[in-house]
Amino acid sequence: MAVTKSRIAGNLSRIRDNIADARARSGRTDDVSIVAVTKTVGLDEIKLLLDAGMTELGENRVQQLQRRAEELNGYLQRKRNPLPIAPRWHMIGHLQRNKVKNVLPIVGVIHSLDSLRLAEEIQARAEGMGQIDVMLQVNCSKEPQKFGCAVGAAMHLGEMICTLENLHLIGLMTMTPITRDAEKSRPIFVRLRELFEEMCTERIGGDDLKELSMGMSQDYSVAVEEGATILRIGTALFE
Ligand SMILES: *Cc1c(COP(=O)(O)O)cnc(C)c1O
Repeated sequence: MAVTKSRIAGNLSRIRDNIADARARSGRTDDVSIVAVTKTVGLDEIKLLLDAGMTELGENRVQQLQRRAEELNGYLQRKRNPLPIAPRWHMIGHLQRNKVKNVLPIVGVIHSLDSLRLAEEIQARAEGMGQIDVMLQVNCSKEPQKFGCAVGAAMHLGEMICTLENLHLIGLMTMTPITRDAEKSRPIFVRLRELFEEMCTERIGGDDLKELSMGMSQDYSVAVEEGATILRIGTALFE
């Protein structure tokens, strides 16, 4: 069954309430934004998200990102009333170097930068396009994960990224393993925040290093308690 407008509105308001509660519990006053992950839905649901005022959209695969972005552009060009704020795409999944040239014209932010070789490819392909906002993906869980740089390598990699003038390092990102128990994600979020604080102390990224992209449908409240500034939420928006 297709998700209705009121369903999305209801989900969004519940998610926002949970975020507000988590911010209150942790005494936070800074902003938390939501990237709506659209990988499991189609253009109709994306339109509903835009109607609900969402502007940040995320995809984890390059081909689907390209397809979605094209569909959405077509729709926005046909649409009579322009949106108050243009939507922005976030690449949140693993990015292969040979796909960099395809995503750069589409995305506003890349969350999944995890190697120097990938950073250098972005540097080369972004020539003349202006700076690309990137986040360093770090593997903070003890489980072997395929993607994300090791915690111990993150500071150095962050420093190297900052020497590449076409890249703009704005924060750190981490993925948590699938779980039903959100508390299992907490130590992973704490690890990323501590790394972030260390990088801030070392002035890596300067004042521009601000974002912690962590927390998904399964664990976003815990992520907010631990300092997330960007949540990547799919399932909970469309259930
Ligand atoms: C799918 C995905 C999410 C969102 O997951 P949900 O459980 O649907 O909220 C977040 N981050 C990444 C990298 C993803 O691939």
